[in-house]
Amino acid sequence: MENKSDVIIIGAGASGLAAAVEASRGGASVIVLEKNHVPGRKILSTGSGKCNFSNQKVTPASYHPASPAFLKKTFAALPPAEVLGFFKRLGLLWVSGEKGRLFPRSFKAQDVVNVLLHELDLLRVPIHTLTEALSVSEGKEGFSIEAVKVQPKWDKKAAAGEKKIYSAARVILAAGGAGYPQIGGSSGGYGMLKALGHSVSPLSPSVVPLEVRGNDTKELDGVRLNSVLKLVSGGRVIQETEGEILFTSYGVSGPAVLDLSRAALSALGKGPVFIEADFMPEYKPAALEELLAERAAAFDGRAFSHFATGLLNEKVIRAAAGRAGIAWSAILPPDCGRELVPALKSFSLEITGSLGFEDAMITAGGCALSEVDPASFASKKIKGLYITGELLDLDGDSGGYNLHLAWTSGILAGRAASEK
Ligand SMILES: Cc1cc2nc3c(=O)[nH]c(=O)nc-3n(C[C@H](O)[C@H](O)[C@H](O)COP(=O)(O)OP(=O)(O)OC[C@H]3O[C@@H](n4cnc5c(N)ncnc54)[C@H](O)[C@@H]3O)c2cc1C
Repeated sequence: MENKSDVIIIGAGASGLAAAVEASRGGASVIVLEKNHVPGRKILSTGSGKCNFSNQKVTPASYHPASPAFLKKTFAALPPAEVLGFFKRLGLLWVSGEKGRLFPRSFKAQDVVNVLLHELDLLRVPIHTLTEALSVSEGKEGFSIEAVKVQPKWDKKAAAGEKKIYSAARVILAAGGAGYPQIGGSSGGYGMLKALGHSVSPLSPSVVPLEVRGNDTKELDGVRLNSVLKLVSGGRVIQETEGEILFTSYGVSGPAVLDLSRAALSALGKGPVFIEADFMPEYKPAALEELLAERAAAFDGRAFSHFATGLLNEKVIRAAAGRAGIAWSAILPPDCGRELVPALKSFSLEITGSLGFEDAMITAGGCALSEVDPASFASKKIKGLYITGELLDLDGDSGGYNLHLAWTSGILAGRAASEK
């Protein structure tokens, strides 16, 4: 197998595959190294298999830490519409969903991977799977990459551990973040960056389910409902979002919670953090109180459970009643509406932590942006090295922003790396 090319790309994920297409179209010979047995494994899991691959409203404001100057240059070099043009040229049709989220028209992440792989096939770009890059070093004639053959989990007899040296004039480091190690996430790329002399800010899980204190939410395990969530720290609302909350045995997840997770975890270092959930956002407090009073009059003398049934998901109304001190089987207490309103409109959950990298869709932290050119993703420290995707200290809100950044950085790096 050939082990020398103009460009070596480490990682056949979102940014690596986009980079490979553009570098090859630009005339460079390209080899992609991938430690998994298939390319694009993480892409397949995105958007619950539907792949929310971009967003209609990509602006610097959706990325953290705030980097408007850097991203202005990036989006000037490759406007978001041109990323969609890249996919259109590959043959992908798409549709838009809630909050500007874009999905392939088939709602199949596999199609996003396949259009990229079909193009790479046409361009004859080899992807060496089950090949893990261990180190990158600079030599007089370019880069040398030490790689090792990975043993697939299902084939204990397959050759593993065999070392191989690749060489290339340019290297695109596209090894992704540390989240979801079960599908390829690893901190190995950050290690290679550090070894090459780049500054890497501390890594932390982001876009991740949150753990909450107390037991009463355990009864809500499995409940999903649309809510307005306020993130409260130091007595102040620091973020607000509307969407689905999912209760689990350990705490909370779902798109709205994932949206808040970055800010929740960063505030946790400074003091207690709460999510206040409004389970009936379509009613103002006074309107809800009126509704409940009318209902109480209609159910006068009957059990609270009769009053509550049909109002909201039973598990939710039971939990809210528990917090308002109302027993489910008791006779409807007078004024129960007034007691229930706060429990239904600001159901407080104290956040204690997250599920960690195992369940983190995104890794916050990474390579310092001051060391990377925003229009080409070239390292400012090492000529011929490019750094893309989640390896950068730049992460997006959930909603397609992270994949958008991966495609953008990959395309720009691939183009730049193809220039001799
Ligand atoms: C469950 C889940 C759902 C998500 N849903 C969405 C979504 O809907 N929309 C969105 O915008 N974002 C989503 N994301 C985030 C998005 O997938 C990532 O931000 C994006 O894939 C990052 O692209 P990347 O190229 O940096 O890394 P990746 O796509 O992770 O690719 C990195 C590749 O490098 C390989 N690799 C790592 N180290 C080495 C090595 N040493 N040698 C060889 N290969 C190596 C990995 O196996 C991997 O294939 C989701 C993430 C997860 C985990």
